[in-house]
Amino acid sequence: MRCSGCYKENIEGYCLNCRKKLFDGKRVPHILSFKAPQNENLKEYQEQTKRLSISGVQLKYSLRLDDKSLAMTDKGGQYILKPIPPSLIAYPDQAPENEHLTMQIAEQVYKIDTAANALIYFEDRQPAYLTKRFDVKADGSKYLQEDFAQLSGKQKKTHGENYKYNGTYENIGLLIQKYVAASYPAMEVFFRNVFFNYLFSNGDAHLKNFSLIQTDSGDYRLTPAYDLMCTLIHSPGETDTALDLFDGDTDTKHYQTYGHYGYPDFMELAKRISIIEARAKRIIIEMTSQSGKVINMISNSLLSTEIKAKYLHYYEDKVRRINVV
Ligand SMILES: [Zn+2]
Repeated sequence: MRCSGCYKENIEGYCLNCRKKLFDGKRVPHILSFKAPQNENLKEYQEQTKRLSISGVQLKYSLRLDDKSLAMTDKGGQYILKPIPPSLIAYPDQAPENEHLTMQIAEQVYKIDTAANALIYFEDRQPAYLTKRFDVKADGSKYLQEDFAQLSGKQKKTHGENYKYNGTYENIGLLIQKYVAASYPAMEVFFRNVFFNYLFSNGDAHLKNFSLIQTDSGDYRLTPAYDLMCTLIHSPGETDTALDLFDGDTDTKHYQTYGHYGYPDFMELAKRISIIEARAKRIIIEMTSQSGKVINMISNSLLSTEIKAKYLHYYEDKVRRINVV
């Protein structure tokens, strides 16, 4: 048995470290005391999303920690629960563990600040992805949080159904420069996240999947990373990135030659958001030199054998693209 949070060996349920991160140290079981909710309103979801992204079909539920057990709640939610999504996408049963694994790789291998997360099971043993909300304070009140759709003034009413895909990563970077006081470190964190999403084939990192949050001192900082997963497994026809890197990014020499982003494209993004060239280079080299650890994490995961192979193949493919300079 491995910890259902961090994959630590010989742990039934959650290890102490994961219990601290997720449940203030409480012994919360990794099996919920209720069954998976029935998927309702599926038609509505399908109609809402023209672009069949995983975020468009994934249902989310709100949970609250009562004493030592998690319960569904309408208000005062401290956790978000994502069960197996409806079968509008490929391999839906693999989605909870895909997100859990990708978040754990981000945290453990790439040292990316991530929302606390774990795999959890319903009473009938169906898996779900569990994540703790970082915008909720201990007393139940909330920190002010704004995503980059809000920060860039994009909404359905003015920019249509696909408003959250209307922008570039350069745009987000420039908004970070504008709103975050210590903007240089935040910019490198953001760049690492964008590059991570490329390496792990997360084609759904849209404007709402990056946010700023107000700290107790009133400053804004980037939130921990959330919603990281290899979306290519579930949406095989999806583009490599949800947003363009920058305006005109497909006109670059590298893109024109190879038909996809490579090292020069990410270096160009880095330049446009004022990341020091040598630093950007170091980040890219460091992030593409972690294959051993990544392979180990994939093999310890609960993905099916078939999906483990796909997950690794997509990752190795992206690393290879970057190494073609
Ligand atoms: Zn653990």
